[in-house]
Amino acid sequence: MPAKIISGRDISTTMRAELAEEVAAMKADTGVVPGLATVLVGADAASEMYVGMKNKAASTMGLNSRQITLPADTPEAELLGVVEGLNADPEIHGILVQLPLPDHIDEARIIEAIDPAKDVDGFHPISAGRLMTGSGAFFSPCTPAGVVEMLLRSGHDPSGQHVVVVGRSNIVGQPLANLLLRKAPGGNATVTVCHSRTRDLAAVTRTADILVVAIGRPEMITADHVAPGTVVIDVGTHRVDDPDSERGYRVCGDVLFDEVSEVASAISPSPGGVGPMTITMLLANTVESARSAG
Ligand code: NDP
Repeated sequence: MPAKIISGRDISTTMRAELAEEVAAMKADTGVVPGLATVLVGADAASEMYVGMKNKAASTMGLNSRQITLPADTPEAELLGVVEGLNADPEIHGILVQLPLPDHIDEARIIEAIDPAKDVDGFHPISAGRLMTGSGAFFSPCTPAGVVEMLLRSGHDPSGQHVVVVGRSNIVGQPLANLLLRKAPGGNATVTVCHSRTRDLAAVTRTADILVVAIGRPEMITADHVAPGTVVIDVGTHRVDDPDSERGYRVCGDVLFDEVSEVASAISPSPGGVGPMTITMLLANTVESARSAG
């Protein structure tokens, strides 16, 4: 039987409607409007597109969104000054510096300059440390938080389940493993993390109740990697050449969807899966930041 679809697009639409209501209520009750600042350095086309999507989603939900675009040759000291200005600005509750930054700028120094209370991207080392230790307030990185939210809202609570995460990057695999391990809602899973040195990957992934794939390799996970009944979340997103398509390309994930959806009990597609959730979690973090500040 084909798998049920876990639609990040649908879950995201529901969450954005909930958040828009919360933003309207906050404005009416306290006069506070959550503010998100995005900082873009240079004119990378993909980065411009991502920042544009984030600002549009923020404005649609009633947030104040402020985009700061700086030339590619902006000195590091000037960018640090911009971040410090945003840290001190009471109208801004969330700061996102779009990565990658030009080579002459030390990314770690810029991320570390963001006030952790406004680190809605969750990349500051203090946020990462608090996620690992489970102590203190922090914002979860948006893509892993989106994966957990998708599992919970589709009725697949990871608690007590064996979750296999394929990928150990600092932005997806590792923080996701830490979120799933926490003694907190959305956590309490038994977690295995795989990477390029894992021996016999398929033997490990077949032991999963829930399989989350963040490898960055188009359609690498096939039916052979998945035991019947597994819940599969595909974080991957790729444009691959497709001469049969009008556009000359198609978008796919790290999972061979047509094959795996015949084996899995539930599966998230790509596109329409984790992608929309990432932006939604950024907005959710910004609203939460405004709530805590108010
Ligand atoms: P990275 O390239 O940073 O990490 C990939 C991970 O996969 C690494 O840990 C790597 O292992 C592991 N890996 C690579 N090849 C294999 C293999 N053959 N077998 C087992 N493990 C392997 O990627 P990201 O984490 O940044 O992104 C992963 C995917 O998710 C990409 O497709 C990206 O586009 C997508 N993505 C989607 C987002 C969204 O919003 N939907 C947001 C962020 C990412 P090792 O560490 O040993 O090198």
